[in-house]
Amino acid sequence: MRIGITGIAGRMGSLLATEVTMSSATLVGGTVRPGSTRLVPDGINIVADISELAQCSDVVIDFTGASTVCDHATALVASQTAWILGSTGLSAEDERLIEKVAQTIPVVHAANFSAGVTLMLMLAEQMAATLPELTYDAEISEMHHRHKVDSPSGTAIALARAVAKGRKQEFNDAINQNPRFGHVGPRKVGEIGFAVMRGGSVVGDHAVIFASPSEHLTIQHHAVDRRVFAAGALQAAFWVNTQPAGLYSMQDVIRKA
Ligand code: NAD
Repeated sequence: MRIGITGIAGRMGSLLATEVTMSSATLVGGTVRPGSTRLVPDGINIVADISELAQCSDVVIDFTGASTVCDHATALVASQTAWILGSTGLSAEDERLIEKVAQTIPVVHAANFSAGVTLMLMLAEQMAATLPELTYDAEISEMHHRHKVDSPSGTAIALARAVAKGRKQEFNDAINQNPRFGHVGPRKVGEIGFAVMRGGSVVGDHAVIFASPSEHLTIQHHAVDRRVFAAGALQAAFWVNTQPAGLYSMQDVIRKA
């Protein structure tokens, strides 16, 4: 299997290059952002653009960011190349585009490629379905490194979606999108709240808290090394290479592996 990596000089891109090189797949090369001054490890083939990368790859792994989604989708559909997409901070329009391209190519799209968070999403949905929303307030907290640009994290949003799904709530109606700062009044019954922290080099910490007047139940995940995401993305690449067109999650990869 031939794998191409977009943004190969990035934090995730460079780790992915190492993972792919150590696997039985062939790393055909990667793209870098035009004008980027980041160093690329020796021996990596830098490809001119996403179209060229897509044409010489069976699967492209993409952890670049929300701004590239449209261009990458167009190139991958043109060459009928499978897409592992880990970028977060996507707009509703981006999400619709991804659904559309998945009608013609296989796409695994996950806000978090770790096995632990994949399981946590399933647990959060199950807990939300079991604990009544009139009694149990659902809060999601997350902390990431100082360079992260989107907030709340894609994983926190995915966890909120899982809670809303378990409660059979409409996601956009259920989430509290207002910062809690100043005289904000009491919490609305049934809403899903977020608490976001940024600092240092935190790879990714998430918690889902169900708090009633009598008890608290919390599930937590701490990513201690970004390699967990790279390994998950590579697992998804091997899996998706044999799949028909469709939009898949990391839960599909783990359940059907
Ligand atoms: P980063 O800034 O270190 O890396 C992104 C790289 O993409 C940069 O090197 C940038 O120059 C490059 N890039 C941007 N536009 C490009 C273009 N048009 N062509 C080629 N390269 C381009 O960031 P990061 O920490 O590696 O994270 C990247 C993305 O992945 C973020 O959206 C982050 O939230 C997400 N992420 C997802 C997971 C997951 O499991 N899904 C895990 C970690 C990070």
